[in-house]
Amino acid sequence: MPELPEVEAVRRGLEDRLVGKSLTEVRVREPRLRRPVPPLSPWVGRRLLRVERRGKYLLWRFDEGTLLVHLGMSGHFAFAAPEVPPGRHDHVDFLFEENLLRYTDPRRFGLILPLDAAAERALEARLGLEPWDARLTPALARERVQERRRAIKEVLLAGDVVVGAGNIYACEALFHAGIHPDRPAGTLGEEDWARLLAALRAVFEAAIAAGGTTLRDHRTVEGKGGEYRDRLAVYGREGEPCPRCAAPVRRVLQGGRSTFFCPVCQSPGRAAW
Ligand SMILES: [Zn+2]
Repeated sequence: MPELPEVEAVRRGLEDRLVGKSLTEVRVREPRLRRPVPPLSPWVGRRLLRVERRGKYLLWRFDEGTLLVHLGMSGHFAFAAPEVPPGRHDHVDFLFEENLLRYTDPRRFGLILPLDAAAERALEARLGLEPWDARLTPALARERVQERRRAIKEVLLAGDVVVGAGNIYACEALFHAGIHPDRPAGTLGEEDWARLLAALRAVFEAAIAAGGTTLRDHRTVEGKGGEYRDRLAVYGREGEPCPRCAAPVRRVLQGGRSTFFCPVCQSPGRAAW
């Protein structure tokens, strides 16, 4: 599932090729995504001013209106040559002048929806802050943890304190901060949050520079895989030596999903619970 760095890689690729171009044609072959794609013909003729990212959402800002795009579990965009026939999972084609952008989504959990001002306010109200938002201080993060007993990894995944982390980057950031993934979020003090936010930012920045992490589906819009996979410290490395202390990395199930961590570097005994 794409997380913040993968969505950012897509955003940069779209912005490089499409900003300033007009949408000249749209073909929706399969409107049944997570929510039905509405008719997009009214968008033809509009010019794309910029592509923004908020959490894992993309906001396509046109000279008139905004389209909200989410890649869901398996969505991706790629530029295609016009003569290449669409595949089975190629659900939408956007033609921006000479650029054919194809949306592919085997599992169809993605979203492509118009976003009006009221819907944008509602979206903003339920999202946490961006990792680099100056308002996101350790004190604020601590204050924002509503359910104090919920595990810190679950709080990261929920995105209501800070957006952008899914399973991969939550595991990685907790490892670099030396925090056990199961630790009740309410026991994190300001120093813990300072380490965790710094680790999250560092992991995201390195992953963005590498074009994200490709496990299965993620590709940049130019068709390149992300190269952060080689730099993952614990994610997907059960039984391999911890890069810091060489103890075997452990995998446990947490909320139905795999959590990878070092039992020594992230030992509850190392920090005050
Ligand atoms: Zn270790």
